Amino acid sequence: MRSESHSPSGPPGTPARRAEQNRRRAWRGLRRTVLWSLVFGVGTTFAVAWILAGVVNLSTVKPITGSGETGVAGEVWVVHVRARSGAASVLSQRFTGRVRSDIAARPLLPSWAPFGVKQPAYEQGATFYESRRASARGWPKLALMAVEEDPYGNGSTLNGGIRIGDRLLPLRVIPLGFAVDVAVYSCAVLIILGPWILRRVGRLRRNECLGCGYPLGGAGRCPECGREVDEPASVPQPLPGPHR
Ligand SMILES: [Zn+2]
Repeated sequence: MRSESHSPSGPPGTPARRAEQNRRRAWRGLRRTVLWSLVFGVGTTFAVAWILAGVVNLSTVKPITGSGETGVAGEVWVVHVRARSGAASVLSQRFTGRVRSDIAARPLLPSWAPFGVKQPAYEQGATFYESRRASARGWPKLALMAVEEDPYGNGSTLNGGIRIGDRLLPLRVIPLGFAVDVAVYSCAVLIILGPWILRRVGRLRRNECLGCGYPLGGAGRCPECGREVDEPASVPQPLPGPHR
């Protein structure tokens, strides 16, 4: 049995096989980096939305009010929108009465606020008014929201959020805004890691040590810094033939 550990450039693989291994390692590293940057993007999107929920107080923001017909005589639909960078809340109310507003309700309603149709209980006449409020946070796009049913009533309920003191942590994902924020934060990490990724890919392509950049040849361990050339266990090692 011959021992390969004694020869410094002993061949655990031919140059072609080493190149193939390096290519595989480069792809594996890239996949892992992209995956982790996505995980970071999701985490940061949640963190930013929750920090904004704690920091931004919309009660001091003057609302824009719109009104519209509900299709029932005497009934009115009123939408109040308060918004500033990274935060918005929408209060939607339907009742019998009159509200003066030159602004139409429907164009004022953001696409993420699910108040375009009446609640069943109100539609069927079980309640004489409906009142709902959606609070959203996120930057650069609103990413998470919570919905309160009857926010000013005694039976106020909260969906898709957690109340902490007088703050509301939103939990319900706003699909488009969430995707944009995750993409922004993930890409930011990839750009920051860009030089490191390029150096790693370049060293693998030139068959150099990932630690110090020393040319490896066929060595299984870097002759310069001693770093192990990690070969995946899943790659089968060819048996050495008698004439190799
Ligand atoms: Zn090295």
